This record gives sequence, structure tokens and C-alpha cells, in this order.
Amino acid sequence: MKLPTDPARNLAALIRCPSVTPAEGGALRTLEVMLKPLGFSVERPVFAESGTPDIENLYARRSGNGPHLMFAGHTDVVPVGDEAAWTHPPFAADVANGEMYGRGAVDMKGGIACFIAAVARHIDKNGGPKGSVSLLITGDEEGPAINGTTKLLDWAAAKGEKWDASIVGEPTNPDTLGDMIKIGRRGSLSGGVIVNGRQGHAAYPQLADNPVRGLMSLVDALLHPVFDKGTKDFQPTNLEVTSIDVGNPATNVIPAKATATFNIRFNDTWDAETIQAEIHNRLDQAAGRKKYRPGKKTSVDYELVWRDRPSHVFLTRDDKLIDTLSASVAAVVGKTPALSTSGGTSDARFIKDYCPVVEFGLVGKTMHMVDERVALADLETLTQIYERFIEDWFGQGLA
Ligand SMILES: [Zn+2]
Repeated sequence: MKLPTDPARNLAALIRCPSVTPAEGGALRTLEVMLKPLGFSVERPVFAESGTPDIENLYARRSGNGPHLMFAGHTDVVPVGDEAAWTHPPFAADVANGEMYGRGAVDMKGGIACFIAAVARHIDKNGGPKGSVSLLITGDEEGPAINGTTKLLDWAAAKGEKWDASIVGEPTNPDTLGDMIKIGRRGSLSGGVIVNGRQGHAAYPQLADNPVRGLMSLVDALLHPVFDKGTKDFQPTNLEVTSIDVGNPATNVIPAKATATFNIRFNDTWDAETIQAEIHNRLDQAAGRKKYRPGKKTSVDYELVWRDRPSHVFLTRDDKLIDTLSASVAAVVGKTPALSTSGGTSDARFIKDYCPVVEFGLVGKTMHMVDERVALADLETLTQIYERFIEDWFGQGLA
């Protein structure tokens, strides 16, 4: 039987499965077919929670004597958008000018295709790694992410699974393959500020209480001064006001209420609790400044509401994992990758509670776009990097 050593062939099979969240689309079944001949035991647990669609996931393990490496990723993809705008159909895996087109080509069926090809080549040459390899693949990363990686990790850990290191195969390279390994992420937190006033005639402000004045002072306090100047490993903490809403259609009416929403990306100067406390403190101080409310004796009447759960900041410190991966990249592409904590959140934020985790995959330029595509040369390069990593990481035994 032919082993899945060709990443382009693996990827084409995956792209042809229309696995837009929450549909499995045949993608996990395709993975199972690839992994079984490599000696993996494969399970496909379905997780459910009321109010969300049931989601199928996959956990595959090839056991060996030595450390345990987990590769994590997702087979679900975002919707195709305007299908007519695609140069090649989004689920056909057409190749043109050395590039394969399809939804998920880089985010992130391509990364999975390369990792499986790397394991297959390693087994072909060496008969199997000196340890255990597992793939933890969810079908719910691009959607609500309720029945995906967190539940899959809990489920596997409850069965006694333990990992020594993990690579998430999300597209981490901004321009060319080998640019960047992600070794951590900033935390993220969203909230809303609601200022309550008293509705009235715009010509008689003394009879009303305009909440817009108060909201402007509070928003200003959220934006200034800067939270920090950044740290050795992280960019400065940043707050963006994402919406300001009054919803008042009349020009001669002072509205009763005004709201603002914001998102903060915070570095390791803070944790979710201390940044929340800082926000509260800034709002309280601004609310008490009378100059924003001429003639008013009371402070601004506001409520602060936190949206969703915070995602926590983390930084991976595992020399064996980071150095081995950096060296593998350098050996294959001839340059040392940057170690970065930039960008948005990913499932690495859940995995970090179980084992050291880094992220390294394809070039992210076309992810979520019309005409998402990957260079066949990049698929080959990433496969070689993963293969080199498997060889060297297992070659060192347990740290
Ligand atoms: Zn992704």
C-alpha cells in the first residue's frame, strides 16, 4: 500500500471535502484513511452542547517508546464567500502555475497534509519515530469552538493521554515559508460600557442628562495613557474601541443611553484580572471628573459588561521544542525564523494548559480569502521541515 508521503496529494483529498464549519464533509474520514496504514489508532468523538451544532473531531495516536509529540489542527474551513469570484472552484483542488487552489489550502488543511506526509516519510525511512505521535484535529475551530479542541483535550486527558510537546499547524508565516514561529500569544478581552443619562430636548439640556458627554470621557480614559510599552517577548498592550452606539435618529433629542464596545490585546505585563481591574479603575476615575458634566454634581452613571471569556496571555518556554523547530526551519530554508507572539488567538491557548506548544505552518497571505491557495513548493518545504523536526526532536529522547 502506498503511504501518504505526498503532501499535495494529501491536501487535494482534504480540499475536496467541503467541511465548512460545522460540516465534517468527509475530511476526518479522509484523515482516518491516511493515518491507519501508518499504524495510527484513530477515534472520532462527537461532542455536543445545547444551542450549538454537534461536532465530529479526531484523535489519532501512534504509540512508541519515548516522548509524545502532538500535532494539533482543524479540518473545518470558513465559508467560500462569493463562489463566482474564485478563479478555480473552492473544493476542486485545481493546480495552476504551481499553486493549489481551494478553501483550507493554507488554513489549515495544508498544514495537516504536510505533517502526515512528514510522518509517512519518516516511517518509510526509519520504521517509526522513537516515541508516540498523535494528531488532535477538531472540526470546530472556525465556528463557535465549543465542541472542539477544549473538549477534545479534556476527553483525551481523561483517557490518560499525556503529551510532552505540541505543534499547531496554523499558517504562521507572513510572507515566505520559514519567516515565523509563534511561541505565545497576547491575551484578549472584550467589554462594553453603557452610560445612562436622561432623555430630553436638545434646547433644554439643563432638564436632561446627555450620556454622550459621559461616554466620550470614559472612552478617552480607555485610550489614554498607553497601558505599557511592550515587553521583551510581546508588543505593547492595545485597546481598540470597536463600536460606539447611540441609535438616536432625532437631532433635537438628547438620548437616554450611549454605549461603546472595545477589545484589548494584552501582553504579559498583565493577566485577565489585572487588566480588568485597570479598566475599571480608569472608568471610575473618568466618571468622577466633573468637568465632563457641566452643572452636574454626580459622577457619570455607567455600567461595564465583559463579553465572552477572556483568553489568557501565554509564552512557551521549552528550549528543546523551540530550538529544534528553529533549527529544522533553518536547515531546510537557510534562515532562522523569528519567534513571535503577534497576531490573534488560536487553539494553542487551550493546549498550553497540557504541554508546551508552538505554532508553525504555511504562509497565511490568502487565508479566509477568495482564491485561497498554496504553492506546491511550500507544501514540499513544510513537509521537509516537519520531517526534520520529527527526526531531531525524537532523536534527543526525553528532555
Ligand atoms: Zn486556522
